[in-house]
Order: sequence, then structure tokens, then C-alpha cells
Amino acid sequence: MSETTLDNIVSLCKRRGFIFPSSEIYGGLAATYDYGPLGVELKRIVKDRWWKAMVQRHENIVGVDAAILMHPTVWKASGHVDAFNDPLIDDKQSKMRYRADQLVEGHIAKLRKKGKDDEADRVYGDLVAALQAEDMPAALHALILREEIKSPDSGAFDWTEVRQFNLMFSTHIGPVSDSDNKIYLRPETAQGIFVNFHNVRETSRLQVPFGIAQIGKAFRNEIVARQFVFRMREFEQMEMQYFVKPGTQAEAFEEWREKRMAWHVSNGVRASRLRWHEHEKLAHYADAAVDITYEYPIGWQEVEGIHSRTDYDLGRHAEFSGKKLEYFDPQTQEKYIPFVVETSVGLDRTVLMLIADAFDTDEVNGDSRSLLRFHPEVAPIRVAVLPLVKKDGMPERARQIHDELQQHFNTFYDEKGAVGRRYRRMDEVGTPYCVTIDGQTLEDGTVTVRDRDSMEQERIAEDAVTAWIRDASARWTPRP
Ligand code: ATP
Repeated sequence: MSETTLDNIVSLCKRRGFIFPSSEIYGGLAATYDYGPLGVELKRIVKDRWWKAMVQRHENIVGVDAAILMHPTVWKASGHVDAFNDPLIDDKQSKMRYRADQLVEGHIAKLRKKGKDDEADRVYGDLVAALQAEDMPAALHALILREEIKSPDSGAFDWTEVRQFNLMFSTHIGPVSDSDNKIYLRPETAQGIFVNFHNVRETSRLQVPFGIAQIGKAFRNEIVARQFVFRMREFEQMEMQYFVKPGTQAEAFEEWREKRMAWHVSNGVRASRLRWHEHEKLAHYADAAVDITYEYPIGWQEVEGIHSRTDYDLGRHAEFSGKKLEYFDPQTQEKYIPFVVETSVGLDRTVLMLIADAFDTDEVNGDSRSLLRFHPEVAPIRVAVLPLVKKDGMPERARQIHDELQQHFNTFYDEKGAVGRRYRRMDEVGTPYCVTIDGQTLEDGTVTVRDRDSMEQERIAEDAVTAWIRDASARWTPRP
């Protein structure tokens, strides 16, 4: 039986064409990954579901697709140039680099594992204080020394000072590389929305409250990136900024946190594996923030953040650009800078969550079967069409059925090998339904439909298959 460990997930993703290490033939590139044929389907389905839920089902939300390269002042205004830092510390002996706050978190997790909850609570309190300290690097350093936290890889206790490290990748625009033309790869998609606030509002004639949504790549030079697609240096975000009248942000925050949690559940993720994490420390401009966390094989971790960001972003861009980013309310005749409630979810973390949540093995007649229990509407392949044998007119008939089903679903055709093996292969990539064409099909036009989860088979008329799949998909529920 394979357990739901990160190693097993990485191996399945590689073996079945979901996710590969980037530039693998050259030894890979740390913390970057490429999506293979099934991974890219899964990712596309997730993006479509997000876009539908956020943009197409809300009359007052529209989309943008902003450039990755932006004017460098954007990142001054947003605060990223000065403050998008992580505290790093080096093990002098192994030369390995760590995030200082994560070292302390690891230490706390170890204490909890040993049942030393009181001690863990005390260190946690100290960590929160250190992160809020004026001289945060020095406070973290002192805490690591006081707790005698050893290097996780070498076991040494020989640390450098803690230094702040900016996570933005920089490059130069144009042929001459000097400091005047330094630009950044965007570390988040949100700023592409804020700088387009005015353009979008004017052209779409939307009135507050309204939202702007975007899906796109973001880049962060993460210090520690050993967690597969959970923490990458190039990743994708799906963000929505909702502009509201000042004073109404608490209501919008409540609305969005509920809607966003419901979206994850609608993708088939088990509700018992999702929970809220309230922020202990709010950013200085935020008046509320909460994370949706999932129980990944590496522990409870953030998949999405919902943040009430006041008028900070538009206010800063108004200040730095000299442009008025105000809204005139035609009803009250008031002018104001709207407040913002943001929903920000990582696409890759969502994909990893879906795979981890679906990952399972069970036992069939003494053999172990590995399967992905994806929600049928999320599965990269919804239905596989399989002729029982590759002769007697079965492949031809199966092709016809395949071509019909392809109009409605992601469909896969496979005629090679024993049918039992083909079923197992489909189970392993999470295909919820298989349709098998046999001798009887040619006589009476019936086929066998097989359900991945129960492995039950049923004989139905071939022209009833589309409706049967739709019906079964709508009835699907996750395991408890
Ligand atoms: P963390 O504390 O885990 O680094 P964060 O709080 O910095 O995350 P945000 O800046 O709120 O993350 O980004 C919004 C979302 O983008 C996150 O909830 C996550 O899903 C995703 N995300 C952020 N950094 C990465 C990364 N390096 N790799 C993959 N996804 C990421």
C-alpha cells in the first residue's frame, strides 16, 4: 500500500505524466517544474472552474491579463522593493541555507510531536514576538541560539547572522544593463490589477462594489524550495481584487471567505482536510486576513489567502503615479478611494492539493490498486473508451462511441493490452468512468460502463452513455 507521502505523489506525477522536473535532461532546475500531458489538463480544468466561479458567474467581476514585466515604480509603490524579504540564515558547516522563521517553526513542530505542548506554545509566542520586533533578523537569530536549534541537514549548531533577502527576481530591460533600467519579474499578479483599476472601471462602466480577476505567472526567488510544486520559484496565481465602499469591507470579507472555501469543496476536496488559519500578525495596512489551509503531506499549509487590504494599494499607486485613483459614487455623490478585499489562490498548490486529496490505494482480490479519486468534473480524463479486444469490429465501433463522447468530455481511447490492465491504468490517473465495447455491443448496441470508485459495472445502451456520465458525475461525493 502506498501512503500519501510527498515522495509517492512526486513519483506518481512523474510516472503518469502529470508533472516533471524542469529541464530534467540537464539535471533539473531547483524549484521549477513542467506540467506534462495530464498535469496540463488538470491545471486547465482548475483555471476554467475558477474563472467560471469568479468572473462568469458574477456580473460585477471582469478579467484582465496584464504583462509580467511592469514599470519598476509599481514595486516601489507596492512595498515589494523595500519589504518583500524573507529572513535567511546559513549553516556554516554544510553551507545550506534556511529560512530563519521556518527553522523555528520546525523546532516547534518537533516539540509538539514529543508532547511538549507547553514548551511549544512558549516558543511560538517568542517567534511571533521576534517577527514583530523592530530588528526582526537579530531577534530571530537570538531565538535560534537560545533554543539551540540545530541544522536540520547536518545537525551542526554553527549559524551565520540572520539576513534579509529580497525575493524578487530582477533583470534589465533593453540592451544596456545599468541600474536605470532594472526591472522585476512580478512576484504576484495583484499589482497588474491595481494599475489597471482606472482603465477597467472606465471601459466597463462598473460601479462599486466590483471585482477584477486575473490568472497568471508569478516569480519568487524562494530561499528554501524543497516541497515540489508547493513552493516554486515560478508559479501561477489566480487572484481577484474586489473594490468596495470604505466601511463595507468587513461584509465583503465574510462573503468572500465563505465563497472561496465553498469553491475548494466544490472541486471535491474533503472538507475535513480544509481549515481556516487566522493571521496572528496582520500586515500594517490590512484590517483582516485569513488563510484557507489544507492538510498536505507536509502538514497544514496555506493554499489561499483572503485579505482585507483597506485603501493601501490604490492609495500608494495614486501617490507614486500622481494619478487620481478615486471613485465617484453617483448615488451618494461622494468621492473616495475604494477599499479592497483580495482572494489569492495558488494554482499549483491547488493542483497539488487535488492530487494529494485524491491519492489512494485499496485492495482488490488480494492485489493493491492505486487510484486517484478525483471529482469526475476535475479529472483530466473523464471517460476512457476501451474495445475489449482489438479485432472483430470492436475498435471501429469503439472509435464511433469515442468520437461521440469527445463532443462532451475529455475522452481517451485505448485498445492496447488486457482490459483489466487498462482499467488499472485509468484508475491510477483518476479517470472516473470507462466504457467497454464487446461482442454484445455489435449485436444489441449495449456497452459496459465501469465506475472507478466502486469498480461496479453496468450494461447500458450506447446512446445512454452521455446522460449516464453526467448523472453519475453530478451524484459523486468525496469519501468521508
Ligand atoms: P507562504 O507564506 O506559504 O510563502 P505567502 O503568504 O507568501 O505564502 P501569498 O503572497 O499570500 O503567499 O500568495 C498567494 C498564494 O500564492 C498563496 O496562498 C499560494 O497558494 C501561492 N504561492 C505563493 N508563493 C508560492 C510559491 N513559491 N509556489 C507556489 N505557490 C505559491
